[in-house]
Amino acid sequence: MRKNIVAGNWKMNNDLKATKKLVKQIKKSIKKAELNNTRVIVAPTYVNLATAVKRVKKSKIEVAAQNMHQASNGAFTGEISASMLKGVGVKIVILGHSERRAYFGETDALLAEKVNVALSNKLEVIFCFGEELADRKAGKEESVVESQIKNALFHLGADAFKNIVLAYEPVWAIGTGETASPEQAQDMHAFIRKTLADKYGNVVANNVSILYGGSVKPANAKEIFSKADVDGGLIGGAALKAEDFYAIVTAF
Ligand code: PEP
Repeated sequence: MRKNIVAGNWKMNNDLKATKKLVKQIKKSIKKAELNNTRVIVAPTYVNLATAVKRVKKSKIEVAAQNMHQASNGAFTGEISASMLKGVGVKIVILGHSERRAYFGETDALLAEKVNVALSNKLEVIFCFGEELADRKAGKEESVVESQIKNALFHLGADAFKNIVLAYEPVWAIGTGETASPEQAQDMHAFIRKTLADKYGNVVANNVSILYGGSVKPANAKEIFSKADVDGGLIGGAALKAEDFYAIVTAF
């Protein structure tokens, strides 16, 4: 059975002190919470991953990296490899976030490579994709999403999807305060699941968690998460406040 997941993408926020503080607050708040089959993930910056991994021990919090380079080592100044993430105890990596695609030129082809490397290093992948506003206005949101998924993931065998979480993040809803309506999210998630089912069959499609991302906050989480094909959220801004993150984690 697929799991519910709430993952906080901290982006380039929180120095070491703030990381320790936020992890401590989340740990404390979820200690006695009824998590209802929900995984709780936080994704601090690279430099704070090792600390976060140590600090979440004996709690239900898991730690993800926000990105990873596709090479295993070499002359790639400033980059971090899969084995380096594993070396500090990270088991999950977010790939394909729209900010990586927009500001760092990450293409579907590059992401296909990164996904391969992450999986072969036994890292679980949270794979992000989503259409831009112009695509939605032109009625092309499904074709855009379909091609992002096909180009980056459909070379994989069915088994790979045991270690992949999908995150649908319409670019127009990220950090804008504008959220897809619960119906828009459900329609797209159902389409994504059908796309997976057409290629890999219903068992694979029904077991993959599909998260929604884009201005999820305590006020709208419950309604979005109530939709049949929405298995949780990838949270940006609201993940930076322990109180808000807790409210979203417990929204199921
Ligand atoms: C994100 O960056 O993945 C995100 C969903 O951000 P926000 O929640 O701030 O829109």
